Amino acid sequence: SSNNLQGYAPICLGLEDFYIRRLYLRIQDCFGRPISSAPDAWFDVVERYSKDNNKTLKRTSNVSRCLNLGSYNYLGFAAKDEYCTPRVIESLKKYSPSTCSTRVDGGTTALHNELEEQVARFVGKPAAIVFGMGYATNSAILPVLMGKGNLIISDSLNHNSIVNGARGSGATIRVFQHNTPSHLEEVLREQIAEGQPRTHRPWKKILVIVEGIYSMEGELCKLPEIIAICKKYKVYTYLDEAHSIGAVGKTGRGVCELLGVDTADVDIMMGTFTKSFGSCGGYIAGSKELIEYLKYTCPAHFYATSISPPAAQQIISSIKVILGEDGSSRGAQKLARIRENSNFFRSELQKMGFEVLGDNDSPVMPIMLYNPAKIPAFSRECLKQNVAVVTVAFPATPLLLARARICISAAHSKEDLVKALEVISRVGDLVGIKYFPVEPEKH
Ligand code: PMP
Repeated sequence: SSNNLQGYAPICLGLEDFYIRRLYLRIQDCFGRPISSAPDAWFDVVERYSKDNNKTLKRTSNVSRCLNLGSYNYLGFAAKDEYCTPRVIESLKKYSPSTCSTRVDGGTTALHNELEEQVARFVGKPAAIVFGMGYATNSAILPVLMGKGNLIISDSLNHNSIVNGARGSGATIRVFQHNTPSHLEEVLREQIAEGQPRTHRPWKKILVIVEGIYSMEGELCKLPEIIAICKKYKVYTYLDEAHSIGAVGKTGRGVCELLGVDTADVDIMMGTFTKSFGSCGGYIAGSKELIEYLKYTCPAHFYATSISPPAAQQIISSIKVILGEDGSSRGAQKLARIRENSNFFRSELQKMGFEVLGDNDSPVMPIMLYNPAKIPAFSRECLKQNVAVVTVAFPATPLLLARARICISAAHSKEDLVKALEVISRVGDLVGIKYFPVEPEKH
């Protein structure tokens, strides 16, 4: 009930007093300081803070290995990878870390062209354009595609980069209830009638924007139903696959493949390379005409430095592994592993009595904490036992819907996950977040 929204005041959890500097997305030590992280399955925590007997804050420098349950390194391509790394190093030597130029001013290397071809082929669209940052892909593209006199209908939990791009476009924005196709249809019906020709509508263009997997909810998009509605009302669709491309689907091609949606039915496919591909940047894939149009009109294409060549090489190499074009079955194994790991971890958490959001096959699994005061206790106690989790709270979620967000990777071994489950179970009892306690079996 306190007004301590920024968390500067001490919160007493009955464990000890400590400070939360900001209630936000982070892996934190007990004093709310972010700890260093690498995207590997295990990483070194190099800084820790503790109180000595006189209750003075002391920095301890002992390094400890932590299991990383916070990274988006879904397929384990970030950090050490024996197929990608030598090629990435080669590209670094050949092209240097940066082109120091925009795409149109000498910043397009052979790698950039190859990357766009590979991405288009991988996601199942005729063409693609890539950008140096995933966030900027949404926030820079939407203002190019949409403007005054256009209507954007956006899922209520769409990522901030989408919200930013939509607002920046000047289009009118309507929001539909998260992942609720019937509400999307209601919102559409307020604006246009079924069968009304595009030329007779009050809007020049209407674009529905959804995500493949929602990053704070771990939920899969109800894409087949949403696509059916969009086709019925003849409106355009924009799908952000940041968390689903590479991570789900039989061959890693995202939610369309997983849910049996024809990619021809999604007008604009967006995604990032920062998760499953272990790199950075983002893409838009669509028709040849759309991509050509973006290449001539998108300021982020001709005013921003092109994606770094080693980052581009990393994506090309990981796509080849995923598709088995490196001559091995490692890609298929990674895909099988992330699926098995995710489904195993989710069902074990549920059996223990945790409230876990999201769907099967999704590697994102939020464990509900609800009370924001439980955030630092949960993350600190896990960290003490060498398990690093990201906690998420206001403003990334509503104030009273705080959660720990577990991200599962193909790089986790079964033993890693079993160890993590033991730790999370103990900490869950300590912090009191097993909201569905399991009845002990009666003999
Ligand atoms: N879209 C979604 C759905 C995201 O979750 C994110 C960030 N995680 C982005 C876009 C931005 O991507 P990036 O971090 O690669 O800039």
